[in-house]
Amino acid sequence: MDTPQLYIYNSLRGEKELFTPLVPGRVGLYVCGPTVYYEVHLGNCRTFVSFDIIYRYLLHLGYKVRYVRNITDVGHLLDDGEDRMLKGARLEQLQPMEVAQKYTNGFHDKMRVFNVLPPSIEPRATGHIIEQIEMVQAIIDRSYAYIRNGSVYFDTVKYLQDKHPYGQLSGRVVEDLLAESRDDLKNQDEKKHPSDFALWIKASDEHIMRWNSPWSVGFPGWHLECSAMSTKYLGEQFDLHGGGNDLKFPHHENEIAQNVGSCGCTPARYWMHTNMLLLNGRKMSKSEGNTISPEELFSGNSEHISRAYDPMVVRFFFLQAHYRSTLDITDEALQAADRGYRRLMEAMRILRSTPPGLSSDGGERDAMLRGILRQSVNDMNDDFNVPKALAGMFELAASINALKDGHLPKNSISASCWNEMTSHMEQFVYGVFGLADESGNTNTEVVDRLMQLIIEMRRDARERKDFAISDKIRDALKDTGIQLKDGKDGTEWMYL
Ligand code: AMP
Ligand code: ZN
Repeated sequence: MDTPQLYIYNSLRGEKELFTPLVPGRVGLYVCGPTVYYEVHLGNCRTFVSFDIIYRYLLHLGYKVRYVRNITDVGHLLDDGEDRMLKGARLEQLQPMEVAQKYTNGFHDKMRVFNVLPPSIEPRATGHIIEQIEMVQAIIDRSYAYIRNGSVYFDTVKYLQDKHPYGQLSGRVVEDLLAESRDDLKNQDEKKHPSDFALWIKASDEHIMRWNSPWSVGFPGWHLECSAMSTKYLGEQFDLHGGGNDLKFPHHENEIAQNVGSCGCTPARYWMHTNMLLLNGRKMSKSEGNTISPEELFSGNSEHISRAYDPMVVRFFFLQAHYRSTLDITDEALQAADRGYRRLMEAMRILRSTPPGLSSDGGERDAMLRGILRQSVNDMNDDFNVPKALAGMFELAASINALKDGHLPKNSISASCWNEMTSHMEQFVYGVFGLADESGNTNTEVVDRLMQLIIEMRRDARERKDFAISDKIRDALKDTGIQLKDGKDGTEWMYL
């Protein structure tokens, strides 16, 4: 395969770098998955959609990608030292694994609605306790961890003394790190230093999620699962690691420390961080209650929006900001996305119907259109610049619509250029951006054929002067969201 010149912004060094995978033609990608003690919110969905597009584009470039996205089902600790999963279980009077399963199912449903491809492997933290225990042991063996009353802590002071760059990813300087106590543990005094973090935690009597280990009956620290599972499925070193930028510290910084501490090598070569989804200018966050759920958005049942929005409109809305920029959800922005999405889908429909009368050899317009096609590839290779590539699709759509409306002579575009646009736009709009039309189809040929059949049947009815039937057809279509437009060249249809 040709080596694509893909540049990726590497959070580890704070600059764009040429992407070269460890093994030519293959990519190992790890993305931190959801914590399943609560419904995922739209902010989480934005991050997973962003990585879905990254995954899809890598596939589009011809890479064989192993995409690992975990499920965090042994919870994080809360400020009061209580496990989130346990808290969820107690609130709902369920078994912890029932809570995890319920919200895992909900997460999968949402990913399906947003047309997010499933990862190659979706490992659960609770299914990898042995691997996590082995990793803790390896860290102890290399003297980067110590045991206190059955719990095990990572020794950040020793790690820094050995000149390991703790803080490089999050840009924290050593003094900040050492002053900062970010662990929400009850037994803070067990730690040698406040910046040390737990690898294994001895379970208190009321703690239900517990496993045997050489140190105590307990449970793993949150950061450990990703280190253990990425190593298991992608190797000690792999290509790409991603997550939201709120995970940089402490989660990702500690992941790196654990990997280095256990095997001496840094795990991912490129770190990618997505930016936050805001709601009315503030970070969307479960803990702050500033959220809008996908269901509320799809039903219109929220104080923040004036009406319901289709999941594909929301996905389209996500595409309009670069993954490293924040994106603010407002009702006006969603309405604009709704219009933009429909315009794009209309162009896709016109493209497939290849109008007669295109020229055989291309002129200036062909050169311009082909320039946009090339530029959209450059945009995607420039750190996945989806909004710019999408803007290119809109420029193409403008010519397609103008030709359809008669504002542009049919022979100003050649048939070969039209075919190139069709194939490229189908690959980008459906394949890479992951959009589908309103009926959820990325291949609307069947819908087109059915609509032609219905339009013919209605025409026959009108010729027979059976206006009751012809009106019934038109009204029933309108109820399902399809409008018929009668013109001098026949009847056309469009989504309302
Ligand atoms: P969590 O379940 O809290 O671990 O979050 C799952 C993923 O969603 C992580 O990669 C988070 O960084 C990301 N995330 C959390 N809040 C937001 C937000 N408001 N916007 C975008 N991504 C978010
Ligand atoms: Zn993680």
